[in-house]
Amino acid sequence: MLTKVIEQSKIDHFTKWFERADKVVIVSHVSPDGDAIGSSLGLYHFLDSQGKDVNVIVPNAFPDFLKWMPGSKDILLYDRYKEFADKLIAEADIICCLDFNALKRIEGMACSVSASPARKVLIDHHLYPEDFCRIIMSYPKISSTSELIFRLICRMGYFNEISKSAAECIYTGMMTDTGGFTYNSNSRDIYFIISELLSKGINKDEIYRKVYNTYSESRLRLMGHVLSNMVVYPDCNAACISLAKDEQGKFHYIKGDSEGFVNIPLSIKNVRLSCFLREDTERPMIKISLRSVGTFPCNQLAAEFFNGGGHLNASGGEFYGTMSEARAVLEKAIEKYKPLLTSEAS
Ligand code: 5GP
Ligand code: MN
Repeated sequence: MLTKVIEQSKIDHFTKWFERADKVVIVSHVSPDGDAIGSSLGLYHFLDSQGKDVNVIVPNAFPDFLKWMPGSKDILLYDRYKEFADKLIAEADIICCLDFNALKRIEGMACSVSASPARKVLIDHHLYPEDFCRIIMSYPKISSTSELIFRLICRMGYFNEISKSAAECIYTGMMTDTGGFTYNSNSRDIYFIISELLSKGINKDEIYRKVYNTYSESRLRLMGHVLSNMVVYPDCNAACISLAKDEQGKFHYIKGDSEGFVNIPLSIKNVRLSCFLREDTERPMIKISLRSVGTFPCNQLAAEFFNGGGHLNASGGEFYGTMSEARAVLEKAIEKYKPLLTSEAS
């Protein structure tokens, strides 16, 4: 049996909307990850099976390793089909906002979503949700939005209507937001849910391979290059890797190629904080990714130094300036957090 997470009043409220709605739009965050796409498509397959007219819209492209997912070809990219997407958003009965906590996370779509008269529900697991939806299902202790979608559908009484396709998408989101069940994944409920998803006929081993073992040769060579330039701060239990624009060109970098790199330095003994600085290909800025182990709040560091945020163990932010300036700020941040990084408790 699953423990109850979503309040009954919210389930009832959403069920009422669901019963009356015809057109549903599902939106998720910029640079969608496995959980953004997994939760969106999981809900999409369910709503589609219930005869709803449903569309998934995300701000921009998502990585190739998610393109095998059933329904992924039907996802609308806002930056390519703005007019059509705006029409769908304006005419929706319900807008489901998945896997983000603030309108700025959907970038260009924010205006049309906030202007739409549709009923809006937020289903998310990031801290501090903004107040832009009538129903707010926000549970930061839950490790993925995909898990919340499973919980929502079950609590609405539709477990039997979850198809194999929906189960594959939900599983993918749960898997990617926990690094293949290696962090934020100690809850027994997760394994109960996996067991239920397996009953739908999913092949979890194959999903793992499709997501994690389909990289290009150039990505592996890029990884080798990035790791060979890694800087370790042994006195602070931290490490930093970076990827500048000229290096991206040299290794035929395409979007998504550096996915997961930030986790690698955490495999060094005693390293509790890993940082990845990547020069953006489109904008003059450095994208920061942070990962931590244990109780070190890398979201706090991201908020304080890089105008960002996220989860305790996975966060990010942005820096407008050069790579060396970004690195200098990061080193200042690491120095400031040295006591926490080196304390026994973390
Ligand atoms: P990633 O390192 O995979 O890009 O991001 C990890 C997590 O950090 C995301 O799931 C998101 O919660 C958070 N995050 C990443 N970039 C930003 C950012 O620029 N601002 C905020 N507030 N959070 C971010
Ligand atoms: Mn997520």
